[in-house]
Amino acid sequence: MNDRSADKSRRALLKGIATIPVVAIAGFHSTGHAAMLSVDDPTAKALAYTEKSAEAGKSCSNCNLFSGASGAASGPCAIFPGKEVAATGWCRSWVAKP
Ligand code: SF4
Repeated sequence: MNDRSADKSRRALLKGIATIPVVAIAGFHSTGHAAMLSVDDPTAKALAYTEKSAEAGKSCSNCNLFSGASGAASGPCAIFPGKEVAATGWCRSWVAKP
């Protein structure tokens, strides 16, 4: 390998290395929040999901299937993957946190 081809190889390698983090960051970019569950979602309807609980002492925020942060307005629910439910919501699958 002469100096000229070694330089080309080195440049190609450096270009490749410089590209990896950008691709990695773009590939793992997240919008931060999942879409909110619609009350018109067929499963939500079947479970009588509402964004404002009418059940005394029962809401998504104190349901065992809710995994949102404490005090958050919404968060993930095990019943509705990829969606967020309102912390003030409720559905027939409500289960008390232990
Ligand atoms: S199971 Fe029902 S009550 Fe519990 S967090 Fe999910 S939507 Fe809310």
